[in-house]
Amino acid sequence: MNSMKSELLGKVLIVDDDFTVRLLASETLEGAGFQVCAVDNGPDAIALLDTFIPDIILLDVLMPGMDGYLTCQEIRKHPLGAAVPIVIMTGLDDFESIERAYHLSATDFISKPIHWLVLPHRVHYIIRSSRTYKELKQSEARLSHAQMIARLGNWEWDIVNDKLQWSKEIFRIFAIDPLTFSGTFLAFLNATHPIDREMVQTAVETAITTRRSLSIDHQILLPSGTERFVCTEAEIQYDSTGRPCHMAGTIQDITERKLAEIRIRHLAYHDILTGLPNRALFSDRLTQSLHRAERSVERLAVLFFDLDDFKFINDTHGHRVGDLLLIEVSQRLNEITRAGDTLARLGGDEFTVFLHDVKSEENALLVAHNHLNNLLAAYQIEDKQLFVSASIGIALFPEHGSSAEVLIKSADAAMYQAKQNGKNHVELFTQTMYCKTSERLSLQMDLRRALERKEFVLHYQPRVNLLNGTWSGVEALVRWQHPDRGLISPLAFIPLAEETGLIMELGEWVLREATMQLHRWHLAGAPVARVSVNVSPLQFRRQNLIDLVKSALSEACLCTRSLELEITESALMDDMDQSIITLKQLQRLGVSISIDDFGTGYSSLSHLRSLPVDILKVDRSFVMNAHESKEDAQILAAIIAMAHSLKLDIVAEGVECEAHEVLLTSQRCREAQGFYYAQPMPAEDLTTLLLEQALPLESVKYAVLDPDQSICCLINENPTTFGGDPLQLVCRLFPGRPPACRGNLTCEPVA
Ligand code: C2E
Ligand code: MG
Ligand code: MG
Repeated sequence: MNSMKSELLGKVLIVDDDFTVRLLASETLEGAGFQVCAVDNGPDAIALLDTFIPDIILLDVLMPGMDGYLTCQEIRKHPLGAAVPIVIMTGLDDFESIERAYHLSATDFISKPIHWLVLPHRVHYIIRSSRTYKELKQSEARLSHAQMIARLGNWEWDIVNDKLQWSKEIFRIFAIDPLTFSGTFLAFLNATHPIDREMVQTAVETAITTRRSLSIDHQILLPSGTERFVCTEAEIQYDSTGRPCHMAGTIQDITERKLAEIRIRHLAYHDILTGLPNRALFSDRLTQSLHRAERSVERLAVLFFDLDDFKFINDTHGHRVGDLLLIEVSQRLNEITRAGDTLARLGGDEFTVFLHDVKSEENALLVAHNHLNNLLAAYQIEDKQLFVSASIGIALFPEHGSSAEVLIKSADAAMYQAKQNGKNHVELFTQTMYCKTSERLSLQMDLRRALERKEFVLHYQPRVNLLNGTWSGVEALVRWQHPDRGLISPLAFIPLAEETGLIMELGEWVLREATMQLHRWHLAGAPVARVSVNVSPLQFRRQNLIDLVKSALSEACLCTRSLELEITESALMDDMDQSIITLKQLQRLGVSISIDDFGTGYSSLSHLRSLPVDILKVDRSFVMNAHESKEDAQILAAIIAMAHSLKLDIVAEGVECEAHEVLLTSQRCREAQGFYYAQPMPAEDLTTLLLEQALPLESVKYAVLDPDQSICCLINENPTTFGGDPLQLVCRLFPGRPPACRGNLTCEPVA
């Protein structure tokens, strides 16, 4: 025991009324390295537990007053005495006392007379085994806690004797009272869900015969009727003869995971807003139905719905109302959809239905018209009464396609045609629609690539000041330099770029490129004051135009007066309040705003008054025949007069001949643009023209001024050379351009 002396081996409490025993035991144990406390009666021992927590208690049985048994009992009741090893000290042959002490949960006994040399060793080993026991209990508790957290329990099955043992956690998972569990394989099978019982039994038998481990997910049925999911796993042991004898495994409650999987699967196949199947599920079901229809020579129809002008509802009433309307629409569609047919929302305002067993085209058309009529009735969304119509396309199996993909595409193409035919319309697919659709699709793909490959170019068309014939600015017009198809007009791809949202990127590029080009002209000394850039409706509504304009102008080192934005009437009317806010912000920046293609939209005079714009660009259609038709001339005159009354500048588009110009000048139209002056042309061509007009600064001698006193051009000749008539001079200096100005020009020397 010498080694034991160097460290404290533990705390010992001695309870004995015999002074000699107390003294000798204390001396011996302290000498061996224990800390000892000795008392001569039970109550003192119990009271001491509050301050002295022993690792072992040596307890005499026979004591006056409270005897050892009673003391043992009381110590066990004390919270700190419950787990302390209690060693009873009793006479050598006193079996009865030993028996009784064990019964009262004493740990061990020591016979009196005590063997003092052996005592420290006994005490030491009892403390050690008590500690080991405690650690084991703690580790068991930890394991059980971990199993509880993981909702995982372990089990063992003695196959030969059909004895099944479950851990506490398994009883908890199955909500079964251990006392009522018969512990057989059948009891386990009975606790599994009836729908999985056979599968579980087969899986266990297969694992045994194939000597593989078992791993299955299955359902169980709790006594309360609740269904849960578990994962059962096990390994099998075989005896020396190869017979299966033992199986050990785990059961884990995986209900939460399974429910999450079910939810995820539902989300993957359903539309969140309406709860309807989505495109993936629709295609799956349609594909299955097509297989069946092929075998039974049945006809199917796919109906493709697209709500008309739904965007308008979204823009006017907000997305929340839009969403509520979509839910109502899905319910209306559902009302007429037969059980067995599938209704789906493909996204946005697009829905599809496929119909089984369609007897004829007329049959499908009738269903589509029923849907259409059903959709037309008013919708009460919150305090608003809304109306919506749809365009419907129909494709039939087998005539219009044999796969889900082709049928949906064909129905989509027919829907597109229904839209073209004026909306609120049903259209049956025809082959020509397919050609149009595939052309659109290939154009759409090409368009995306074109942006990456930088295939877009800008052409510029000058705008002429009718008072003095000078170029007041240029309009940037985008073109697509297609590698195979050559130069493509914006009319062929801008609508598609709008539809697909690509216009945002394209529009940003146009703005940056046009302002950059103006900067290049300035550097080259070419006299261009301003560039105007077309802004598409989508850009105007969605893009952060203010930031974009600021950044484009600052990158090109231009002042804001160098830029004009052309916006169509319809884009402005879409959401007047928002338009006014955006326009005001742009104007505050100093950017000019013109209404493009004026007269083709639906703006009224009152609208025009409230819109902060600077310029009206009268659409070409009003100019085209104005020189030949009196009525057209009157309309043109009315528009120009209206612009004057609203104090707006006016630009006439599509000026193609001198007669147009004469008419416009007589109406005091300030500016014009058209083939008569110049076609839109690449920047380089325009640069050449511009530079021909420009004079090196040092040779500028005179400025020719128009009747408004604005500079018409700079010249290096003395006007008297030509009899003092500046008009003649301008004609001579710029022979390519007809004399546009009708007013008197004056010349002033430049200082
Ligand atoms: P717009 O803004 O009204 O542009 C004027 C169009 O009229 C141009 O057609 C121009 O070439 C054409 N034009 C000019 N003078 C005459 C003429 O005397 N007679 C005739 N018949 N036509 C004339 P273009 O370049 O084909 O552009 C068509 C439309 O495409 C533009 O109409 C504009 O709305 C749009 N567009 C062009 N570039 C862009 C762009 O960068 N962004 C956006 N959003 N739209 C653009
Ligand atoms: Mg324009
Ligand atoms: Mg225009």
